[in-house]
Amino acid sequence: MNDYKLLTPGPLTTTKSVKEEMLKDRCTWDDDYKSITQTIRKQLLQLAQVNEATYTAVLMQGSGSFVVESVLTTAIGEKDKVLIITNGAYGERIVEMAQVMRLSHVVYSVPYDEQPSPTEVQAILEADVAITHVAMVHCETTTGILNSIEEIGQVVKSFDKTWIVDAMSSFGGVPMNIAALQIDYLISSANKCIQGVPGFGFVIAKMEELQKCQGQARSVALDLYSQWQAMNVDGKWRFTSPTHVVAAFAKALEELLTEGGVETRYKRYLHNNRLLRTRLNAAGFKAYITEVWQSPIITTFLFPYDGFSFTHFYEEVKKAGFVLYPGKLTDMDTFRVGNIGDIHEADIQVLCDVIENYMAVTSNEN
Ligand SMILES: *Cc1c(COP(=O)(O)O)cnc(C)c1O
Repeated sequence: MNDYKLLTPGPLTTTKSVKEEMLKDRCTWDDDYKSITQTIRKQLLQLAQVNEATYTAVLMQGSGSFVVESVLTTAIGEKDKVLIITNGAYGERIVEMAQVMRLSHVVYSVPYDEQPSPTEVQAILEADVAITHVAMVHCETTTGILNSIEEIGQVVKSFDKTWIVDAMSSFGGVPMNIAALQIDYLISSANKCIQGVPGFGFVIAKMEELQKCQGQARSVALDLYSQWQAMNVDGKWRFTSPTHVVAAFAKALEELLTEGGVETRYKRYLHNNRLLRTRLNAAGFKAYITEVWQSPIITTFLFPYDGFSFTHFYEEVKKAGFVLYPGKLTDMDTFRVGNIGDIHEADIQVLCDVIENYMAVTSNEN
């Protein structure tokens, strides 16, 4: 198998040094390992621009969805009701979780290429006083749209509701001050913008909120409160932790800081995303999301002409060393290009050369 560059939203292309951390075996109850966990927790709070007096970081085994489920089951009690705002598949996944968990919930859904309206959220909260929690995705990885957690969050907090944000594909790649954004639970995972490998996720929680959740989870393994209590003692995870992944993540965090922190990484992502959009637009590919709402993370492109074969295109681009991502829209033919991970301007330039060349050759054939 060749070493492809993954232009996907995670798992993504990681550095060799991050991968090399996984060549050692580590012991879960040894202090050396537990201190890695504690350092990670501290550094996550720093990235979130919050302090240990009011916020805590809790790590949880599993992929990102496990951690979303963990927050829902732990934070939302039997007498509570959650408003779920959706404009993509990841928001819809939260709805599915709420259904399966039999959480009392209401959905406010807008088309995939539109932003949820703060005025509408306000009207819903005014009309339904039973709502206690509001959940929304930040970067909807389905399309690449970046939802306004500032505007919606202000409305949510003006009604004093608990504010849950799935920032899976944006945290670490888009600067955020969690306290200023008044987020109560922010969820993300190891294999997105922090550029680690998959195996666990994490929650940055307002302690005052998490403190209220003892005994509330209807799950043992996904009980975020119990995980927090155990981890708070000395960094020990309750059940077997993904030791190799945790070590790789610690290295990835170190490399994020060396790169210059979240702000610098954001600039790299933004630059590469704009370059990608500009060059592909010139080559005949229209982006699905309007530029002002486009995240610097992942972009959805429409098929450029009738009869375009994504399978053929994908294989040709793969031969050149890049793996693209299929689209996730049901009513339109699209594909996606992610630009997070250890991907640099030179990679995007080569990718765009390859795609331009593909278009030149295939349109000659047409
Ligand atoms: C990646 C992602 C998730 C989690 O997906 P998993 O496949 O469970 O890791 C959740 N929400 C968003 C917005 C994501 O991008």
